Amino acid sequence: MSDNNAKTTETNEEKHDFIRAIIREDIAENKYPQIHTRFPPEPNGFLHVGHAKAICTSFGIAEEFAGVCNLRFDDTNPTAEKQDYVDSIKQDVAWLGYQWEGEPRYTSSYFDQLHAWAIQLIEQGDAYVDFQTLEEIRENRGSFKEVGTPSPQRDTSVADNLKHFEDMTAGKYKEGEAVLRAKIDMSHPNMNMRDPVIYRVMHEVHHQTGDKWCVYPMYDYAHPLSDAIENISHSLCTLEFEDHRPFYDWAIDKIGFSPRPHQYEFSRLNINNTLTSKRKLKVLVDENIVSGWDDPRMPTIAGMRRRGYTPEGIRDFCDRVGLSKADGVVDFRLLEFSIRQSLESITARGMAVLRPLKVTITNFEEAVAQWESLKAESVNARFDDANNTLWLTQPKHPNVDMGEREIPFTKEIYIDQSDYELEPPKGYKRLSPEKSEIRLRNTYCLAVTEHVLDDAGEVVELKATIDPTTLGNNPEGRKVKGVIHWVSASQGITATVRLYEQLFNDENPGSADDVHEVLNPNSLTVLEAVVEPSLANVEAGSRFQFERESYFIADSVEHTIEKPVFNQIVSLRDSFKPA
Ligand code: ATP
Ligand code: MG
Repeated sequence: MSDNNAKTTETNEEKHDFIRAIIREDIAENKYPQIHTRFPPEPNGFLHVGHAKAICTSFGIAEEFAGVCNLRFDDTNPTAEKQDYVDSIKQDVAWLGYQWEGEPRYTSSYFDQLHAWAIQLIEQGDAYVDFQTLEEIRENRGSFKEVGTPSPQRDTSVADNLKHFEDMTAGKYKEGEAVLRAKIDMSHPNMNMRDPVIYRVMHEVHHQTGDKWCVYPMYDYAHPLSDAIENISHSLCTLEFEDHRPFYDWAIDKIGFSPRPHQYEFSRLNINNTLTSKRKLKVLVDENIVSGWDDPRMPTIAGMRRRGYTPEGIRDFCDRVGLSKADGVVDFRLLEFSIRQSLESITARGMAVLRPLKVTITNFEEAVAQWESLKAESVNARFDDANNTLWLTQPKHPNVDMGEREIPFTKEIYIDQSDYELEPPKGYKRLSPEKSEIRLRNTYCLAVTEHVLDDAGEVVELKATIDPTTLGNNPEGRKVKGVIHWVSASQGITATVRLYEQLFNDENPGSADDVHEVLNPNSLTVLEAVVEPSLANVEAGSRFQFERESYFIADSVEHTIEKPVFNQIVSLRDSFKPA
């Protein structure tokens, strides 16, 4: 990945939101030895752009306030979790530019401690083993209108509860036969406080602890206590956990910690035409609707990386979205805006013809024979007799520090099919039967003399002449409007180019019953393009601006120098402007 030359678009302006305001107060009151956050993904899928927001929030805040941030795998559910996901998550966080404190943590490495605290809760009279079925537990929880019905085991003695929990732990019960519940309040207005389950039986092999355990803590129980173990000060998560905060606080208070972690919730990132749910994204992968978790159309961090998005652009986007408690939908074009901004100053320019139309320059030999005497002084070129090629030297970027490239100009070139229209729309500035002359970027002005049609009436070739006096000079006695790009037919390199649109036509694909119905059939277009040589001989992961087209990246998986493959990162411009 060639990200080391990427220029940051972030500013050093102080950021303001309700969470940072709380942190500033806590710092002023000296509440914690240091600001300590965590990012706690469950390793049950690849991270997506929503997680990028959570990562930028927790890691970014730690960085800003001279604190640290832990990476903790919340691996309390052994069935859906896999080592591959653990590896991809580490790669994604590091790629976004963040460094976690120490080694990655695992909730599973606290299982001994969490189990000991469960026993402590039983001893305190704050937990009991319940033998009701999960269905009975659900029914007896009551509703918003009705208080719950206490379990027949709610008042079991401490001694019996200890014995029952020991039996659960020893594997004497099948899944669902017994659970450990916190003893709180069966008529609490918050349903999460009506004696929530904190441990369950699961006869599963865990990817970290193997077959050591057949009881596993519930997320709601493990999460606050893991935060406390790690000395987390500010535990930042999304709004769906707001109703779980009373239990978070209950668990912390019952075990007792000082200073104690606090949970704060912000709204999830939703983006139009985009899925932000691991579970739903997994369907796209499992059904081969996309080529994998890292398909460049996927809103996963792996997909965005392969697409050519920059970590700087993604971080800038997250900053622009900001933190609040208001649910909303962000326009995907804001993400594209941030990505585009991050690319402008770091991408070398090059010419690539995506839909080639051959042009034969009938006076090529006579015209270039005089190139040296007729050229403008500024033109830097050389003529290669053996290949009948005029090599033009041009900077790779307006910032000349990025170096130069040589562009071959030959008798046969390609221009884009869309730059010659038989029936041009009004205001069309390129070539047509009525408007024959145009500037070829970086070289001569060209005048079309003839178009060749196939049986279907499509233009398949143009014949043209160049004006020998226009190499770097303005044409005499006339104005030539419009500049188009081109590539040498004999020295250009064939490349596979992939153009992308949104994966979904629907603004809210998450609400569709069947994802197939909202898929955009045009989300991927594969073209055989021709690119100038400086674009082909490049490393996978290199990003470019194909002039007049889009930003592109040499695909990290399939690109080779022999068979170049480019993914479209984002268009060069868009009418969208951020608020
Ligand atoms: P999904 O619904 O996609 O499975 P999740 O919330 O279950 O997501 P976790 O691995 O549990 O995924 O999430 C890790 C962290 O990322 C949590 O703190 C969660 O709040 C945060 N997060 C997940 N999705 C988003 C989102 N769309 N916007 C902001 N933060 C998110
Ligand atoms: Mg989750």
